[in-house]
Amino acid sequence: MSKLINGKEISAAVKDRVAAEVAELKNKGISVGLAVIIVGENPASKIYVANKKKACESLGIVSHEFALPEETTQEELLKLIQTLNSEKSINGILCQLPLPRHIDEQSIINAIAPEKDVDAFHPTNVGHIMIGDFDFVPCTPAGIIEMLDYMDISPAGKNCVVIGRSNIVGKPMGMLLLHRNGTVTICHSKTQNLKEICRNADILVAAVGKANFVTADMVKPGAVVIDVGMNRLEGHLCGDVDFAAVEPIASAITPVPGGVGPMTIAMLMQNALTAAKRQNGIL
Ligand code: NAP
Repeated sequence: MSKLINGKEISAAVKDRVAAEVAELKNKGISVGLAVIIVGENPASKIYVANKKKACESLGIVSHEFALPEETTQEELLKLIQTLNSEKSINGILCQLPLPRHIDEQSIINAIAPEKDVDAFHPTNVGHIMIGDFDFVPCTPAGIIEMLDYMDISPAGKNCVVIGRSNIVGKPMGMLLLHRNGTVTICHSKTQNLKEICRNADILVAAVGKANFVTADMVKPGAVVIDVGMNRLEGHLCGDVDFAAVEPIASAITPVPGGVGPMTIAMLMQNALTAAKRQNGIL
């Protein structure tokens, strides 16, 4: 039986911490404002944005939602971002991805002022993460580090294997584990001997996007298993890890749902707070 890493409990602790600091800032006359832009009608994106808004409201962060029609042009979106970049009451700007195909995502990411880039996708913030001198970390990897800290699991000196090399999860996850002195291997679809590499992991992070991809024979007994996947299987939300088979051999594991998912929003709230503190000379 492994220890369950409870994302609901850990994210609640992060949110309590953020709410207390937001209230402290309010006492000093500073409010935290987060702009969330959504373009088009993607149903999953709409749910994410609604959840982000709810989290803002519950923590005292002012959420400014910009719901734009599918046919919004890239120029129109860039213009909105420029306005928000110079708006003092907006501390953080998040543009929900994916964007409609006629809009170039990287151009939009590049347009967000790095100090307001609470997703940490701007090349300037990506560079800061590489160097190890950063304010913002992409919310999902940041949430995973928070979980490991909470569980008193140190990556130092451990074999850490990340499956997936996306800019949002896999790559920054690898960098954060490296900054914590893990010995990091990042795997992807061209990796050979994936099973053997995974079996060598003390900490295994799965960010593949394929249901039940990580099977028991890929996991070293006693490993810590972090499941980032959010997949739909027969109408149910499930992760990348075959939880029923892996849970008995892991020392600690995140469930799906209730694992990494809740952490992502909590860390977004934390990034918005950090942005407000920086912009007001508090950090
Ligand atoms: P992504 O951009 O699609 O990246 C998937 C990665 O998996 C790619 O690097 C890909 O390799 C690799 N991959 C695919 N098939 C593989 C195979 N057979 N063997 C080894 N590697 C393989 O996805 P993402 O944005 O990183 O997200 C990954 C998962 O996490 C998704 O289920 C997503 O919904 C979920 N997610 C959850 C949260 C959360 O808050 N819980 C946040 C973000 C994402 P190549 O690069 O070679 O193609």
